Amino acid sequence: MIVERVSVAGVEVATGHFIDGVRVQSATTFEDRSPLDWDLKLADVARGGEAEAHAAVSAALEAFPAWAALSTVERQGYLHRLADLIDSNVERIAAVECLDMAMLEESLRLRVIGRGARNFRAYADLAVAYEARQWDSNGTHNTVLRMPAGPSAVITPWNAPFMLSTWKCAPALAAGNTVILKPAEWSPLSCSFLMDLVDDAAFPRGVFNMVQGIGSEVGAALVADPRVRRISFTGSPATGRAIGVAAAKNLVPFTAELGGKGPFMVFSDADLDAAAEKAALMYDDAGQVCLAGTRLLVESSCRDAFVERFTETAGRHILGDSRDPTTTMSPLIHPQHLERVEGFVNRAVSEGDRLVFGGHRLAANGLWFEPTLIEPRSNDSEIVQNEVFGPVLTLQAFETEDEAIRLANSTPYGLSAIVYTSDQAKADRVASAVRAGTVWVNCFLVRDLTAPFGGTGVSGIGREGGDYALDFYSDLKTYQVKEGTTHG
Ligand code: ADP
Repeated sequence: MIVERVSVAGVEVATGHFIDGVRVQSATTFEDRSPLDWDLKLADVARGGEAEAHAAVSAALEAFPAWAALSTVERQGYLHRLADLIDSNVERIAAVECLDMAMLEESLRLRVIGRGARNFRAYADLAVAYEARQWDSNGTHNTVLRMPAGPSAVITPWNAPFMLSTWKCAPALAAGNTVILKPAEWSPLSCSFLMDLVDDAAFPRGVFNMVQGIGSEVGAALVADPRVRRISFTGSPATGRAIGVAAAKNLVPFTAELGGKGPFMVFSDADLDAAAEKAALMYDDAGQVCLAGTRLLVESSCRDAFVERFTETAGRHILGDSRDPTTTMSPLIHPQHLERVEGFVNRAVSEGDRLVFGGHRLAANGLWFEPTLIEPRSNDSEIVQNEVFGPVLTLQAFETEDEAIRLANSTPYGLSAIVYTSDQAKADRVASAVRAGTVWVNCFLVRDLTAPFGGTGVSGIGREGGDYALDFYSDLKTYQVKEGTTHG
């Protein structure tokens, strides 16, 4: 018998899809386990396929005209109601996501989940505040209008599943699109809880749907459906390419955020204590953060002083149960991912890269991996050129600003870069020369919802954030009226 709801951290969570306003089960399920205790099965979750993807797109298509016809103010009412419900359920969502994904519960409770509510509020407000560009030319009055694009598929990764899903679904809905969300199979539960809140917020049926299942099954079916008019994806470059091919077949615009290998550049004029403190944060969430600056590029003259400080700050991390407020580093999400991370480190060491510290999983049964620093033998080392997505940083020294920039730009990725210097002119030069979607100077992870977000190169295609996201989820229409045309 298929269980429709399970208790996770004392919170009732549905195991089914959410299609056309109702919970739907599938004939088969997949197992969802907790990274905090791999013996703990949290749920058997509905394993969707072509039929479920098709049903969800049908529901989204059916609901689209009425939702698109609402004013931005009317849609704002729904989105604000959902935001309020998220705010009043933060503790529960945090508890579920902590067990399901293992991000630190305190961080989820105090910061991450609340951002989900802010996403819905901010995008609803931005859509209302839209000031269409207007100008006169060639004897006509021109206006740029936004037309809702249609059913939108949102495919999200397993790290920060709630926040990243809301970050994409909010602008899609605010722009007048209907949505089919496909959360990652390694952490599907907080998004399922979100669908209960969508129900409580009394969204019209079919406006906001969710399908659960394996990426190559329900995910692939979803992005292949020609009725889907936008695809937004965050995940690996390999999957991003596959989705890009599906999008191209149907001529559907898509955005893809595909991870990073950000440089963390430390110049000798920087506040080294502050730089070392921030660099140690790259181990947070076990390094499962696409924006992390995982390549430490340090000016030779301050290398030893920096490494001494960094080794000390990194050594303060406490690996433990993510529900415990004293824990600062969570386990990795899945045994397969632990093996992948360990494989990177073992290959690096066997090929001659130098292990500065860390490098091992914790002895017990769990999925914890030590904070690790590797000094590569060459910039071509695999550990420098590929995203590990674990608590593994590399350390390289540079002599000159030009060399720092050359190293920073020497991987196929280009999502984020971090620069530590006390010289604003140097920061400006470096930031303008670095190929990355976001550059932070003397700070990290400070995000403004209205700023563009995305990557270059292997890090992805397109930009989301603020009006960039609302434009992506719209078909822009140029409306031209001949001067002198009067109201009838
Ligand atoms: P990871 O982030 O674990 O490397 P992916 O990039 O494959 O993995 O996964 C990110 C998201 O993409 C998940 O929700 C996953 O289910 C989904 N996915 C994986 N393969 C496909 C596919 N072929 N088509 C659509 N979605 C997919």
